[in-house]
Amino acid sequence: MGFTFVPEYRFNTFDEATPEFLLSIGVRGVLLDIDNTLEPYEHPNPGEHVVRWLASLAAVGIKTAIVSNNNSERVDLFNKDLQMPAYAKAGKPFKKNLLRAMADIGTDRINTVLMGDQVFTDVWAAHNTGIRAILVPPIRDKRDLLTRFKRLLEIPVLKKYEKRNKK
Ligand SMILES: [Mg+2]
Repeated sequence: MGFTFVPEYRFNTFDEATPEFLLSIGVRGVLLDIDNTLEPYEHPNPGEHVVRWLASLAAVGIKTAIVSNNNSERVDLFNKDLQMPAYAKAGKPFKKNLLRAMADIGTDRINTVLMGDQVFTDVWAAHNTGIRAILVPPIRDKRDLLTRFKRLLEIPVLKKYEKRNKK
């Protein structure tokens, strides 16, 4: 398995990627997955910790946008008060809507990362776009068979990440 699926960064939760860390790696824009990255599927609204983290990014001038493969009902409701540029049914791992989102927030391939919970959707989409990826573990798995199968396939990728980052 090649470089394509190995994320540049991993955190245990989205808000471990602090504004200080993001600035230190030259990030000015973050493209965000919603489901199992910021909130579980069944939470329609962003929680207080999500709102606070987004505000902390905005405070240092880091722009954010949503790029979700979920439907527009889900994305619009989640984004109702946040009012970020947002793409539903984004078609990750394809790059089209990541490029659109970057154009919306005025960032480029060098200073943008995508944050998500799925190797074969989010990390792959980031690398198809030529940007870096931050992988977080899924907040809560929808334990359907396909998801479980995909998690199994992710294991060698994550091992590769650990190997690369072990000095
Ligand atoms: Mg997700």
